Amino acid sequence: MEKLFDIIDSLSGEYVEFLTDICNIESKSDNKEGLDRVWEIIKSHGIQRSYDIKELILEKAGNVLSLTYNPKGEKPHVCLSAHMDTVFDKGEFGYPPVKRAGDMLYGPGVIDCKGGIAVSLLAIDALRRYGYNDRPVKFILQSDEEVESVNSEGKTIEFMINEAKGGAAFFNCEGKTKGYITTKRKGIIRLCLDIKGKAAHAGDYFEGISAIREAAYKIIDLEGKSLKGGITYNCGVIHGGTALNVVPDTCKVYIDVRINNQEEYEFAMEEVKKTAATVFVQGTSCEVLHVSHRKPMERTGANVSLFNHINKVSRKYGFGEHKECFSNGGSDAAYTTLAGIATVDDVGPIGGKYHTKEEWCYIPSIAESAKLLAASIIELD
Ligand SMILES: [Zn+2]
Repeated sequence: MEKLFDIIDSLSGEYVEFLTDICNIESKSDNKEGLDRVWEIIKSHGIQRSYDIKELILEKAGNVLSLTYNPKGEKPHVCLSAHMDTVFDKGEFGYPPVKRAGDMLYGPGVIDCKGGIAVSLLAIDALRRYGYNDRPVKFILQSDEEVESVNSEGKTIEFMINEAKGGAAFFNCEGKTKGYITTKRKGIIRLCLDIKGKAAHAGDYFEGISAIREAAYKIIDLEGKSLKGGITYNCGVIHGGTALNVVPDTCKVYIDVRINNQEEYEFAMEEVKKTAATVFVQGTSCEVLHVSHRKPMERTGANVSLFNHINKVSRKYGFGEHKECFSNGGSDAAYTTLAGIATVDDVGPIGGKYHTKEEWCYIPSIAESAKLLAASIIELD
């Protein structure tokens, strides 16, 4: 492995620059222009290295693609994956958006999840230069992960599953917490309680029916059903009322429900419907609207075996012991797990402060994560 690790060390500076460049292009999930610029850079990176390229051109979401090194490899392929969309508006980080301080890189997407793109492409480039030829090695790029793939109406997920199908392993390169690799994640259901009452002048208070008051009762009822380690119901956004002197006739409560498995999905939906159907303020009505849904990544035997494999490789080459992480956040790794592909998540570089302006990536971990992934691919049975 020494030769492979030397190759990665010699390439790592180039990939830190690459990461800086793609993070300096702002690419929120709905910024198709920015996303397509990043897509273009990654595509030409693939062309320069003669990778096989499959692309999916999309109308609203950013275009996506898969790159394959060694497409004629005899054993089943392996996949690395990451997304290029971020949660940040233009200008939030100032210009240029990316700043470097010693070994730290700060900027939109440095860890969530463009750092994962850099790690994936570095690992594949190193395998190419090393002459690895057992299996095809794919990189699958996503463009609307942060919005549960709503912008492409699920087409990016369909593309990802088709590309990953039949593969021996799927490494989702979201950012890493040192010493942990994720084998299980919660699913997310996003719903809206659309509550209706009756408007009246505040001076004629008793003639109105307050939708906001009903919402208050419903929020307390629903959030009260949350359990540590179990299903949680978070009413994160509310919109209601029109003016201070009007009894509000409408209120929308947006809910984020986190579930561990499919049984909990059915249960949680029933609980939300029960709260919706319970009338606390006489005269109000409530409808449950669907916003989006991301399935849970279940802890399958295949996921645990892949975790054990990486952990063994990690110990063998001095990258330390890892523990399994069970995450409360959702990710695209759920879909490849559901498709029956051995999947692990959060194997990108080390970083933190996701979705905040302090988002950071620890630069030396880019090479280290690429080494662990490339060695794990080589040593896969
Ligand atoms: Zn994110």
